[in-house]
Amino acid sequence: MQIALKDFTKSFDGHTVIDRMNLTIEDGEMLALLGPSGCGKSTTLFAICGIHRINGGQILFGDRDVSHLPSQKRNVGVVFQNYALYPHMSVYDNIAFPLTIKRTGKTEIDRQVREIAEMTHIEELLARRPAQLSGGQQQRVALARALVRKPDVLLLDEPLANLDAKLRLEMRSEIRRIQLETGITAVLVTHDQVEAMSMCDRIAIMSRGEILQVATPTDMYRAPETRFVAGFLGNPP
Ligand code: ADP
Ligand code: MG
Repeated sequence: MQIALKDFTKSFDGHTVIDRMNLTIEDGEMLALLGPSGCGKSTTLFAICGIHRINGGQILFGDRDVSHLPSQKRNVGVVFQNYALYPHMSVYDNIAFPLTIKRTGKTEIDRQVREIAEMTHIEELLARRPAQLSGGQQQRVALARALVRKPDVLLLDEPLANLDAKLRLEMRSEIRRIQLETGITAVLVTHDQVEAMSMCDRIAIMSRGEILQVATPTDMYRAPETRFVAGFLGNPP
């Protein structure tokens, strides 16, 4: 589903951090929100998610204005760096949880949990507890839990930040594979330009609450429109 921010504005304690941002994420694309720490990436993601109330503008899911809907009433899947799994539940119950809230029937829950577990390659881990999993396996479970309700949009906030370098590489291609297989619209928040370039269809570069340029990785690299963009892409922090 197409997701659009129209004149999205957000302030904290009277201090405006995002001022009339416009951004469209096309149906089925994976878009990176890329920029240095503190530029407003998570704030933008939280607005799409509905975790934060916005101070101005609109958030559209397709042609539906969801600006005033709480998070539970938006069909979003989220994977955050520190959005932990429920430690007292099995992997199966963790994934099934969003469906039990929706009062889906047992047989249907079982079918959907197994389908998404197969897609994320965790079928053999369903009986375990989160503490018995590696970091990469935990992120696979978090992805499965985010996707099981077939959300309108998948929101990923620095999902690879807690993984070691080898796992990070593996999960980059795994997340992209799953996104392409499901065809879900996705937003990846990252401060890592290589991650954005290698995983996404388009990149939106942010600085100080503003989007400076939106382009495919190739176009962004070939034709940066500002010195900031060129510097950010060229000089890994
Ligand atoms: P990023 O995710 O790009 O690192 P954030 O969206 O977290 O950046 O933050 C953008 C700006 O908003 C920062 O200046 C940050 O200090 C401020 N900010 C974020 N969340 C809050 C909050 N809950 N209260 C006050 N200020 C906040
Ligand atoms: Mg952040």
